[in-house]
Amino acid sequence: MLREMVRQFVSEKIEPQALEYDREEKFNVELFRELGELGLLGLTASTEYGGSGLDAISAVLVHEELSSSDPGFCLAYLAHSMLFVNNLSVNGSEEQKARLLEDFCTGKKIGCMAMSEPDYGTDALGMKTTAVKLDDGSWKIDGRKMWITNGTIDDSGTPADCVLVYARTGEKENGKPEISTFLVERGMPGFSVGQKITDKTGVRASNTAELVFDDCVVPASALIGDVGESTIHMMRNLEIERLTLAAMSLGIARRCLNEMNRYATERVAFGNKIRDFGQIQRYIGESYAEYMAMKSYVYMTAQKMSLNQSGHRLDSDGVKLFCSTAAKNIADSAIQVMGGYGYVGEYVVERLWRDSKLLEIGGGTLESHQKNITNDLSRKFGSMIE
Ligand SMILES: Cc1cc2nc3c(=O)[nH]c(=O)nc-3n(C[C@H](O)[C@H](O)[C@H](O)COP(=O)(O)OP(=O)(O)OC[C@H]3O[C@@H](n4cnc5c(N)ncnc54)[C@H](O)[C@@H]3O)c2cc1C
Repeated sequence: MLREMVRQFVSEKIEPQALEYDREEKFNVELFRELGELGLLGLTASTEYGGSGLDAISAVLVHEELSSSDPGFCLAYLAHSMLFVNNLSVNGSEEQKARLLEDFCTGKKIGCMAMSEPDYGTDALGMKTTAVKLDDGSWKIDGRKMWITNGTIDDSGTPADCVLVYARTGEKENGKPEISTFLVERGMPGFSVGQKITDKTGVRASNTAELVFDDCVVPASALIGDVGESTIHMMRNLEIERLTLAAMSLGIARRCLNEMNRYATERVAFGNKIRDFGQIQRYIGESYAEYMAMKSYVYMTAQKMSLNQSGHRLDSDGVKLFCSTAAKNIADSAIQVMGGYGYVGEYVVERLWRDSKLLEIGGGTLESHQKNITNDLSRKFGSMIE
């Protein structure tokens, strides 16, 4: 039922606007808010706070469907529903959830998550943004965050309604950075948008921004969990982030496969349908097999994932590593099968090809996944990998 509902919304509302918003590099904020009426914006949040109380499989399914039409729009959805709402639902206090969640589940408000900085991406724990506790218990945040999806919701620099910010609050006894998590709301002094980042290769229907925290004072109630707890928050949230990014790749792959399959029957060359040519069969055959492997790995990982606990890093990294490159290759094959038509916007696959590249970078680069997988497998040294 969930899949059918999202599919219908995609074909009626999302598909007709996708090309235009990509071309104009605009976030369709009105359409985004409509997802709240369908219960999608608080998909995994508890029903007690206005969410839909659903699981990782549901999250995968929604991302797969949205991304099969408009990965840019889907990325904005992911930043709000997974990086902000799910993060707050899992890690926030009852007071924070009761105060904030409902408006983010309905779409009245839009959220985002800020971890990356201009000089620190993969090396996230090296971050330089600091939060210092003041005498009255409030916190002063200083620093810059970079590449933040939904960081601004328009072209005039209006920030998201709330941003979940990771900041350095000190150093642990072992010399590692102590990172804590804060909720910074629009209008809090010292919080602004530095710039909307334009001219991206893909996912142009989502807004990406640099955020500035300049003597930004937030109340004591803005701290999520305990001081120094961010590593746990990040680990819990990165797993569902990577899985849903893999689901985005799956949606891209499915659409590209469908487009090339249809086109190969319609297009005639040398008196034959092009699907009769062996070289075209290789593109379609291999893409289908890769797509099915992606689908199995995505849903298998989703089935094992519990949203409240970390411990799924091996496969959340593995599935994103495999699916992001597979989707890019399948989109590339679709363009090749469709020739010149595949290379222009109207035929969709060129946009999906551009969008697919982001998934090899955002939420963890290919290289970071290779590093994590190899580290995690070292613990299995001497035992069988299942
Ligand atoms: C469109 C878009 C949206 C984004 N949205 C968000 C968001 O909402 N919130 C957020 O916090 N961030 C967001 N990001 C940031 C994203 O997560 C980072 O871009 C990503 O983690 C990589 O960091 P970086 O760009 O600084 O690259 P770097 O970390 O500088 O990497 C550069 C290269 O060096 C490689 N490298 C780095 N370290 C190692 C190593 N140890 N071993 C081998 N190779 C290494 C990388 O793999 C890469 O190839 C977004 C990025 C983009 C482009």
